[in-house]
Amino acid sequence: MATEPLNDATDPIDVLVIGAGISGIYQLYKLAQTDLTYRAVEAGDGVGGTWYWNRYPGARFDSESYSYAYFFSEELLGEWNWTEHFAGQPEIENYLNTVVDRFDLRRHITFGVRVLTMTWDEAARTWSTTLSDGSTIRSRFVVTAIGILSAPQYPAVPGIEDFQGESYHTGLWPKHDIDFTGMRVAVIGTGSSGVQIISAIAGQVGSMTVYQRTPNWCTPLNNRPITAEEQQQLRADFDQMHTGLMGSFAGFVHNFSADNPAEQTPEQRAAYWETLWQAPGFAKLLGNYVEVMTDKDYNTEFTKFLEAKIRARVHDQKIADKLIPDHGYGVKRPPFETDYYEVFNLPHVSLIDMRDTPIERVTPRGIATADGEREFDIIVYATGFDAITGAFDRIEITGTAGTLKDYWAEGPHTVVGAASPGFPNLFFVVGPHSSAGNVPRISERQCDFVNEVIGEALRRGCTRVEARPEAEAEWTAHVYELNQGTLGAQAALDYTYGVNTPGKAVTFRHYDGGLIGLTAKHAEIADSGYAAFDFS
Ligand code: NAP
Repeated sequence: MATEPLNDATDPIDVLVIGAGISGIYQLYKLAQTDLTYRAVEAGDGVGGTWYWNRYPGARFDSESYSYAYFFSEELLGEWNWTEHFAGQPEIENYLNTVVDRFDLRRHITFGVRVLTMTWDEAARTWSTTLSDGSTIRSRFVVTAIGILSAPQYPAVPGIEDFQGESYHTGLWPKHDIDFTGMRVAVIGTGSSGVQIISAIAGQVGSMTVYQRTPNWCTPLNNRPITAEEQQQLRADFDQMHTGLMGSFAGFVHNFSADNPAEQTPEQRAAYWETLWQAPGFAKLLGNYVEVMTDKDYNTEFTKFLEAKIRARVHDQKIADKLIPDHGYGVKRPPFETDYYEVFNLPHVSLIDMRDTPIERVTPRGIATADGEREFDIIVYATGFDAITGAFDRIEITGTAGTLKDYWAEGPHTVVGAASPGFPNLFFVVGPHSSAGNVPRISERQCDFVNEVIGEALRRGCTRVEARPEAEAEWTAHVYELNQGTLGAQAALDYTYGVNTPGKAVTFRHYDGGLIGLTAKHAEIADSGYAAFDFS
């Protein structure tokens, strides 16, 4: 189906959506239910966002597939069969393409263009958005759905361009197959992406050297196929599941234990942790005693339990020493794994601890550290993202308050993560200070809210809606108050603090109140007649 043309010289459209990933697709679906004019622009050549770019071997959900899906159409829910509890990237990309075609959204998306600048025209009350293909789109509103992990980052070491072998970033993985057979491979980074690709290619490579800076608390994903009976049950329970997810702390099927660990013996706690170890994915984090996330002693007790698990799986205890983190559980986003620790028992796999021997430079033939140069055929950069605000910083967004990059230089400040004063008619879906959790559920909530605010402006016959500074100050203070003193804040190790991006202000960019806190704030704002916004 042909894409509709861009509107260079014509009247402004009502809403421009930036990004056609999970959030952008849902936002387009919402707009398709209105009589507004709209369009999405997308840097990739296909839909999917995260699930388009991160097509590296081993990439898969670590939220349960059915909890990640869209819930807006009973027919879709009835038609689509996830094959595994945690689907792999090809299946996810296929799902998103199916959704876009099923609901005739593709013709509203322009692919292969990057947004360069966005400038607010106060007189015309429109945004002018310039694109990498030289065109400009004018729109009354802009909704950014640009993701929180979409600005890939390479390590700040010299020589990356000099390497004469192949090199790939997990977040920019090419569409063609890469043959690792017999290759000498380096993988830099041991976050969720590194852990997935390391396990996926270990059996294929000739040799693999893993460059680890910070070890992570990796626990079993426990993936398995969805049986026909489970499929039937899932279908029967979809409404209930949706209500449960949207009412849960973070949009997952897992909920914190109702038990108080203080009322249990160490043996009872260990027995409970054993059930979590056997349970799928995020159960270890979100099905745990909530006290493990808030009380240092319980957290340490849990990490001792995990340490014993790692030691039992890794044969060489000197390697196990390197793989065992010295930070608390959950203070850094934990990866979920399949046979990850066993990889380090393989004779052709070695582990370089970058805390002892940091990378000095990438050379034409490999990687040099203080203890010498190693040669490789392929280097995989699993080095993550300029998280949460990175994708915003890469666009020059100019409102009445100057550029958004400058406005957020010391940290983001927003009304409920959805808008900032000085940037009228601009809304963020899954941006900073919205929420951590199962992204599609967060973005569903945030999209619904953003569309309510736009709808309210239109109902009032207004052409301009802007977040109020008092509401921004209130929400921002709330975000920091909740975060203050938490184990996460004490450690400040996670990319949500910006610590992985050289030169970035170290400040909290997520929101600890979960989907629950976000939903409550949305309701409060709606009940107040949207007093957090100025309409004119
Ligand atoms: P990440 O968690 O930020 O991990 C990046 C890794 O690269 C870390 O081990 C980091 O070490 C290392 N690194 C970065 N810069 C470095 C440098 N200059 N020198 C040495 N090491 C460096 O990124 P990610 O693994 O791509 O994951 C990001 C997020 O994406 C995850 O937390 C998760 O939310 C999401 N994700 C989800 C899935 C899924 O299963 N659904 C899969 C992949 C990713 P330090 O830790 O020391 O910074």
